[in-house]
Amino acid sequence: MEKKVRVRFAPSPTGGLHLGGVRTALFNYLFAKKHNGAFILRIEDTDQTRFVPGAEDYIASCLKWCGMEPDESPELGGNYGPYRQSERKSTYKQYADQLILDGYAYYAFDTPEELDSKRKEVPNFTYGLATRGQMRNSLTLSEAEVEDLLAANTPHVVRIKIPENEVVSFTDLIRGHVSFDTNLVDDKVLLKADGMPTYHLAVVADDRAMEISHVFRGEEWLPSAPIHILLWRYLGWGDEMPAWVHLPLILKPDGHGKLSKRDGDRLGFPVYAQNWTDPKTGDLTKGFKELGFMPEAFVNLLAMLGWNDGTDQELFSMADLIDKFSVERISKAGAKFDFEKAKWYNHEWIKNTAAADLLEPVKAVLLAQDVSVADDEYTLKVIDLIKDRCNLLLDFYPQSAYFFTAPQAYDLTAVKGKWSPEKASFFKDFAAGLASLSPVVQEEQFKALAAERALKPGELMLPFRLMLVGGKFGPGVFDISAALGVEETRKRIQHALTVFE
Ligand code: GLU
Repeated sequence: MEKKVRVRFAPSPTGGLHLGGVRTALFNYLFAKKHNGAFILRIEDTDQTRFVPGAEDYIASCLKWCGMEPDESPELGGNYGPYRQSERKSTYKQYADQLILDGYAYYAFDTPEELDSKRKEVPNFTYGLATRGQMRNSLTLSEAEVEDLLAANTPHVVRIKIPENEVVSFTDLIRGHVSFDTNLVDDKVLLKADGMPTYHLAVVADDRAMEISHVFRGEEWLPSAPIHILLWRYLGWGDEMPAWVHLPLILKPDGHGKLSKRDGDRLGFPVYAQNWTDPKTGDLTKGFKELGFMPEAFVNLLAMLGWNDGTDQELFSMADLIDKFSVERISKAGAKFDFEKAKWYNHEWIKNTAAADLLEPVKAVLLAQDVSVADDEYTLKVIDLIKDRCNLLLDFYPQSAYFFTAPQAYDLTAVKGKWSPEKASFFKDFAAGLASLSPVVQEEQFKALAAERALKPGELMLPFRLMLVGGKFGPGVFDISAALGVEETRKRIQHALTVFE
């Protein structure tokens, strides 16, 4: 029988959620949904030194914002819990004990000082095949010595004993056949002095306990795969091993190296999904959400970092992605992150989303700027008029503020030297005669009056726009005047006439 698809997103709660992490979550999610499987959130919090309060809730909130609600999680529970590794602590020690008993792992009693001095002595020191014989561990000490040390509660760790001269190979669903020479792999710690497992032991124990069928994770974990595969075998679970899927890296815009948070700070774009405030320093790092990305666009652009459906199609909803997703179409090569392209996705999503669905997020943007948006019908009209001009949801404020508040100042450079008493009189009379709410009728009136006064309508349009908007931007000027209504348009013309000269 085919194994039920069960995949996990397994972040460590150490800070803001990098877009690479969200993409890993997304590919897990898409695969689960495509195969009617389960998408599990597991919090890997065994490293107490890196634990950051608030990070777990933040991760859950990012997933929620993206529309990727887990089927099982610390919050929701499920049949395979607990979903926080720190709460599974008691389950790991038995595996470490078993590995020691079977000769696949050993106790290491080296103190931090001893390790430090060894590191100074041996360049590029790693604890493993070449060095383990010179260290204080259960391979070099006598059985009696080890027993004494353990009886005296001497701090120690448990390390995996990586075999000599073996090749560990496996099939990665993206990379195909992958193999590692064990002579190049070090004896990683499995159980720490505090009794907590390290990532390596916990990930294998939990992937098995949670019956994970496929491990989707970033390529940066590929070097850890041989350790995990050996552990699966050494623990006697070789037949149950999940399929491996190491996702391509997300690269800096220039393609040189993995995109880091620092690149975002340096180049002025977000790297985290949502705003993150470091609880220690209070430093705020801006996220895609707060910078005005739609979650649909964020998900869409992440999906395209390393995947395509084999056609030129670039815009996909979550439902489309679930429908089209396949591991075969994930590329091996790293995907360059391009913020301009990211904004393009958001622009396309804003443009293609009905005003009604933009209403709430746009109102939130405007309210944050103290714009009063009581009339939904009017706001919807405004959204329809300007959404083509917005790349970010935040752009709705500069692009629409004049619909809600009359301009306080005018960009008069455009009329300087071109203003005349004839033009002033034209506007005075146009304002007085305004009656229709139809942009077409208003335009006809405008042109007819201009013809009557022997003025070129082209020379009147820009001043008219300045009167209504304050600047030289916005949709069609008669669309603006019609939306503002006769009264407001008239008021704005009259006020501008007192300023223009
Ligand atoms: N806890 C690891 C991380 O923070 C998970 C790696 C894995 O998925 O195996 O990314």
